[in-house]
Amino acid sequence: RRRYPAQAIVDLATLRDNMAHLVDVVGGPHSGTAVMGVVKADAYGHGLLPAALAALAGGATWLGTAQSHEALLLRKLGIGPDRCRILTWVYNGMDVPFDELIDNDIDISVGSLAGIDALADAARRLGKPARVHVKVDSGFGRNGFTPAGFDAALAKLVPLAHEGVLHIVGQWSHLAVADSPDVPEFVASTDRQIESFTEFTRRMEAAGIAPEIRHLANTAATLNRSEIHFELTRPGIGLYGYEPDPAMGTPRDWHLKPAMTLQAQLGTVKDVEAGHGVSYGRTYLTPDNTSTAIVPLGYADGIHRSASGFDMQGAKHVEKAGGPVRVMTSAGPRLLHVCGRVCMDQFIVDLHGSAAELGVHEGDTVELFGPGRGEQYGEPTADDWARAADTISYEVFTCLRNRIPRLYL
Ligand code: PLP
Repeated sequence: RRRYPAQAIVDLATLRDNMAHLVDVVGGPHSGTAVMGVVKADAYGHGLLPAALAALAGGATWLGTAQSHEALLLRKLGIGPDRCRILTWVYNGMDVPFDELIDNDIDISVGSLAGIDALADAARRLGKPARVHVKVDSGFGRNGFTPAGFDAALAKLVPLAHEGVLHIVGQWSHLAVADSPDVPEFVASTDRQIESFTEFTRRMEAAGIAPEIRHLANTAATLNRSEIHFELTRPGIGLYGYEPDPAMGTPRDWHLKPAMTLQAQLGTVKDVEAGHGVSYGRTYLTPDNTSTAIVPLGYADGIHRSASGFDMQGAKHVEKAGGPVRVMTSAGPRLLHVCGRVCMDQFIVDLHGSAAELGVHEGDTVELFGPGRGEQYGEPTADDWARAADTISYEVFTCLRNRIPRLYL
């Protein structure tokens, strides 16, 4: 008996294969470019430890997390320094377990003067050098030293490196645009970031702290910018089987395969008459006599309310395609869409026909997204849900709450 109304099934072999492909893309395990599996945010909702192990099985030699507690958790779960390096990069300067990070051989990003001071204090206290990756702001405008602020950073970093308090391992930065090769403005913007990044390297070299490992490439640049693979690349979304931006094409175009399938068991299936109002606000009125079915997932599960189908502007019904759901009928698979507003725990789909005639029943398994080719082929993906909710696949995954169990194949 199923205990849960819905489940996210994660195919670990697919995660492993995606990583193996990304390792191939950078030239294989002996190319001089290592690959980091970015497993932050519970591995984009796929499950931190299973995804981390699958990434390592696929040839990743680094793991990366934004928050330090996830990096520490990986070590506590048995992924030791002999197995892989781990980098962590988001913290608030004051309240960081730097001692624990250093003690656990976790590499730490530093991108502020306060961060350098706090890290150096911890390393001195422990009597063990901290492994540092200097974060530079090459044009993203988020973390990292700006070109103007870099002299002050070097003035602190250089003596600490010479004293052996900090081991300057890396220099890194993040790219701001998904870098579609056919959008000239994106290409030019990435080119400017690369120039800036290279200038930072030159300044580090001139100061006598040449970085051993430079890394700049996310999934997009791993796939289409081989000139900036440097010593390490940091793909995240590619590991999970998606291209960063549908404008780049589909996962298949990049030899990737989505690893997660989100399924649910249908709740109440019933016949309703034409003109029946559905869900809050009655924003959807059934156009014909039809059957509707409940999908037991809602915004409390992380299904975006903005993926609702149909909306109202004043008293006027405005047509808008809701998120897609694949249903098996007696005549084969059929694609339905959210009708009316997504509720907290459920949403409703219009079968556009009689459930009895279609052979659709309460308890049938339906798929919100999976490893298919996209909605236009009747095989919805997280990109289709992202489009319906006006967001990106990253947010579709990371919003999925833990009350949806992850099952692993
Ligand atoms: N590097 C950093 C610093 C990130 O924040 C992220 C994710 O946002 C990544 C790499 C991976 O990016 P992507 O998932 O686009 O490959």
